[in-house]
Amino acid sequence: MIDLHMHTTASDGSSTPGVLVRELLAAGLTTFAVTDHDTVASVPGLMAAAEAEGLTCVPGIEITAVHDGHDVHLLGYFIDTDHAELGAFLTRQLDDRRRRLLEMADRLAALGVPIDAKALAAEAGRESRRALGRPMLGSALVGAGHVRNIQEAFDKFLAAGRPAFVSRIGASPAEVCALIARAGGLASVAHPGKLAEAAVHALPAMGLDAIEVYHPDHGPEDIARFRAMSETLGLGVTGGSDFHGRSSGREDALGRVVLPVDDYRRLIERAGRRRAHV
Ligand code: AMP
Ligand code: ZN
Ligand code: FE
Ligand code: FE
Repeated sequence: MIDLHMHTTASDGSSTPGVLVRELLAAGLTTFAVTDHDTVASVPGLMAAAEAEGLTCVPGIEITAVHDGHDVHLLGYFIDTDHAELGAFLTRQLDDRRRRLLEMADRLAALGVPIDAKALAAEAGRESRRALGRPMLGSALVGAGHVRNIQEAFDKFLAAGRPAFVSRIGASPAEVCALIARAGGLASVAHPGKLAEAAVHALPAMGLDAIEVYHPDHGPEDIARFRAMSETLGLGVTGGSDFHGRSSGREDALGRVVLPVDDYRRLIERAGRRRAHV
């Protein structure tokens, strides 16, 4: 079974790479990609751990681009994790994540629900290449007793349009797709069911290679719609659980939301053609 979307403690997942490998084995997965937000810090260790356990690890990432003021999550697969330009780009993304997290923490303090932002920022030095994200603010709000759970933190404070939300500064989807291609990889749009229709339709002309058809937030109609779109446009198909660790709210998707093996084979062929041109 194949799952090409999950997170570790290098971003906002709660499983360390070592714990994740055990969880993947328990769920019966054989091929996986870890797609942390704006960092590949977990990938080299996972490639080695996967080999030792007889699993196949596809190097991956989930990069946040900005289109029309809204975040667009782009998955990159088969990327060269040592690519220098990609590394420099990700350093800027990590720096902007820190800026945004500290600004959002200031807003939370002004709203009367303060959290210890310095402790959060200290967890993610440039050297660690850990990506900060809003779920960490959510956990801190839960820990400080301001909300009951992370979902309530998003609904009250952290989601787009809520009072502590600060928008991101970042590259366009076209720039991110081109960078992923230069790093030898394929770009797929993550959970397009969560995006505005206009954004999804703008992406293929921006160098998109594939569409994430299988995702826990997609119902049967989304799956049919995005598969039809991939066929019409000649794009690849990706999918996975978007697992963020045990007790992250969505853990039941591990081993349930998977990518059909035929789609995975076509993706490998597409990646081979890409690599032949890099
Ligand atoms: P960030 O990288 O700071 O934009 O945070 C994005 C992550 O926050 C996503 O990958 C989800 O794990 C989580 N998230 C985003 N929106 C929501 C929401 N409305 N409710 C719960 N979790 C969310
Ligand atoms: Zn996440
Ligand atoms: Fe995402
Ligand atoms: Fe994700």
